[in-house]
Amino acid sequence: MTTGKAAIFVEPYRFEMAELPVVPIEPGGIRVKITTGGICGSDLHFWRGEIEPFVSGAPGPVILGHEMAGFVDQMASDVASDSIGQPLKEGDRVVFPYFFPCHRCYNCLRGEFNHCPVRFRFRASINEFPYCNGGFSEYYYLFPGHFVFKVPAELSDSAVAGVNCAVAQVIYGWREGGLQMGDDVVIQGAGGLGINAAAAARHMGAGKVIVIDGQPGRLELASQSGADHTIDLNEYDTPDARIERVKELTNGRGGDLVMEVVGYPQVVSEGIDMVRRGGTYIEVGNIWPNSNVTLDVSKILWGQVKIVPVTHYDPYILPVAMEFLSRTKDTFPLTNVMSHSFPLEEIGKAFEQSEWLGKEEGSTITRAFVTP
Ligand SMILES: [Zn+2]
Ligand SMILES: [Zn+2]
Repeated sequence: MTTGKAAIFVEPYRFEMAELPVVPIEPGGIRVKITTGGICGSDLHFWRGEIEPFVSGAPGPVILGHEMAGFVDQMASDVASDSIGQPLKEGDRVVFPYFFPCHRCYNCLRGEFNHCPVRFRFRASINEFPYCNGGFSEYYYLFPGHFVFKVPAELSDSAVAGVNCAVAQVIYGWREGGLQMGDDVVIQGAGGLGINAAAAARHMGAGKVIVIDGQPGRLELASQSGADHTIDLNEYDTPDARIERVKELTNGRGGDLVMEVVGYPQVVSEGIDMVRRGGTYIEVGNIWPNSNVTLDVSKILWGQVKIVPVTHYDPYILPVAMEFLSRTKDTFPLTNVMSHSFPLEEIGKAFEQSEWLGKEEGSTITRAFVTP
């Protein structure tokens, strides 16, 4: 039997290497050989044990990782093209949404693929088909009919590894929030999502782009990625000071759109106070249960603030995101994000490195990747 390497997440802070079955593909299926797996902030939450990974089907150990690049290793004979009609063959580099809309539910029927209730099919126990399947293994399986897109030659594997998470997520967020030319935007958080959000807003025609964070290196990167103004938490060290600063920078109004990509509920109330009357708050980061927050709803009502929650994205955003990276590769430093690369066997070290990168003074979007 053919097997593939995988790093199995056994318990917090511990992976174990294993060889898992690689089985024949179904009609319509595609098996991707992974070349680069990025460590996402959400992987770090699982690793620290702050939350259990969602598992579809029977419980059991799983393979983490959902940001990746790779090429078509094998595809069913009835697959001939990618999802926008470009001819597809074995060996072609591809990206794809890491979640799997079922096409057989009310949300899918309405075209709301990102709300499909069974979209987490990708993270099943290693004892279930397709076994060797995850960002931190040798293979990722695309179920029949799944969306898949060829990668243009000018984008490297490490440049596109985050396309299916951070890049697509923020472009979709601005779209759902209704960003229009000239809108002033505020971004809470300058991690991977925040940096991409600044560049995307600039590229989409925003007016002022204002980014808030506490790490000088990240703020510097935000400035290189389209931010006109940065607000350093060390300098503006209370919510009131930061709200005041945002108003100063927006002629007393507040942002037309404010996006939360910090991932902690404490920042939400402050962020809503940064929205102009009639503006929009785009909530992206607080994905964990019990992200509780106390809100003064009268402020939302009298301020006519719209709150737009955004998780996942429509699949068509993926080619849009790659086009954005191609067009802006000489303008913004978004395609050069790999700072460290580890073989899959050293995945523990890769996670420690990522954890350290997140805390380090001067830390930037650059981060660790693993290579099967
Ligand atoms: Zn991610
Ligand atoms: Zn569905």
